Amino acid sequence: MWFPVLSSHRTAEVALAVAFLNLPFNVVYARVVTSEGDEAQITGAYPTVECTAYGWPAVTNALNEFPPIWQPATILANDTDAVNSWANISKSVPTDIIPHGDIFGDWNDTSYNVASDPACWWTRSLCTTPKLAGLPPDVASVPEPDTMGYGFDDGPNCSHNAFYDYLKDQNQKATMFFIGSNVLDWPLEAMRAIDEGHEICAHTWSHHYMTGFSSPDAFAELYYSKCPIKLVLGVTVTCWRPPFGDVDDRIRAIAEGLGLRTIIWQYDSFDWEQATGNVTAQQVYQNYDNFIQRAENGTFSSGGSIMLTHELNNFTMQTAVSMYPQLKDAFKYVVPIGVALNKTQPYVESNYSLPSFEQYISGTITTNSSGSSGSSSSNTSSSTSSNKNAAMTLATKPDSSFFIALGLLSALMGSSLLL
Ligand SMILES: [Zn+2]
Repeated sequence: MWFPVLSSHRTAEVALAVAFLNLPFNVVYARVVTSEGDEAQITGAYPTVECTAYGWPAVTNALNEFPPIWQPATILANDTDAVNSWANISKSVPTDIIPHGDIFGDWNDTSYNVASDPACWWTRSLCTTPKLAGLPPDVASVPEPDTMGYGFDDGPNCSHNAFYDYLKDQNQKATMFFIGSNVLDWPLEAMRAIDEGHEICAHTWSHHYMTGFSSPDAFAELYYSKCPIKLVLGVTVTCWRPPFGDVDDRIRAIAEGLGLRTIIWQYDSFDWEQATGNVTAQQVYQNYDNFIQRAENGTFSSGGSIMLTHELNNFTMQTAVSMYPQLKDAFKYVVPIGVALNKTQPYVESNYSLPSFEQYISGTITTNSSGSSGSSSSNTSSSTSSNKNAAMTLATKPDSSFFIALGLLSALMGSSLLL
């Protein structure tokens, strides 16, 4: 069964709102966290401990370099790199493709011709081959037969330790599509992902409908999704997934200018929508089952596939855990999307690599920054990734005045600003 995502855009927004309710709105810096290892040890205490906000100086000292967390991004006027980058990229961005609806996915006022689909607007037509010259097709499937490109959107989630523990126990890596604002909220959780060998891609700054943004603001959403990952993890990502799959050739051109390959999916588990009440848990399990049945009946014998799943909330993560054994049985290989694409250099920085597909399926599921490879059983410990050491050296114990200042800032913002 095919699961197109052509509607329910409003409910998707609600799903995210519900998902983020696990974040404390009145920030109380009750916990001092200074290491990724300590943070990764906290499990089973959700949400009282695991999701208590914490300050981490490498992030909080840099907050003035970012738009307000969780707010739709705009280019900061004093950010010369961003201003210059947009000035350069904007030359390649079409001006005859206008924004669709708004950033909340309301397309009531649009008169887009879905039949001719001039802008290859995936959200309406599932188009993945751009009509604008010079743009690569979206990645919606993977070339390796009987293979699942395994990935999760919307992290890092503050309560993901049990899920990541499970993946670690299974020697399973995945592609994590991180939201920039989430990376700044939960930097140590983001570190755990890369440190344990997962591939990192961007998922915008504030998680809105990208085709609803003006071009400069869409640029800002992508630009400021890369920056937190570089700040916290030390790498410059080269892939992204549009929230709700909402992308067209105008947005693809901006992503291309920023060196980001667009990754979509073929099937949707609709795990994200369970939180809205629009689908039941049983329906989500059924969607997984349908995908698994396709794998079992040979649908992917000439080329693998990608299903949309999430690190969004405990339901989506628990479902991923409970369905994993069946996925492993049904597919010959379950690998990160970058591995399925044989993309051995996932980041701009050349000191970090992914195993090739052949390496991965032969048991080498991570490679380290020196270029040598580690076995699946010995290279998953935390606090070994050299590319974050520079950031980690800033992880000194924050003092109380620091937290008070941040609390005041949060109150002034009147938002769920978390640090
Ligand atoms: Zn998302």
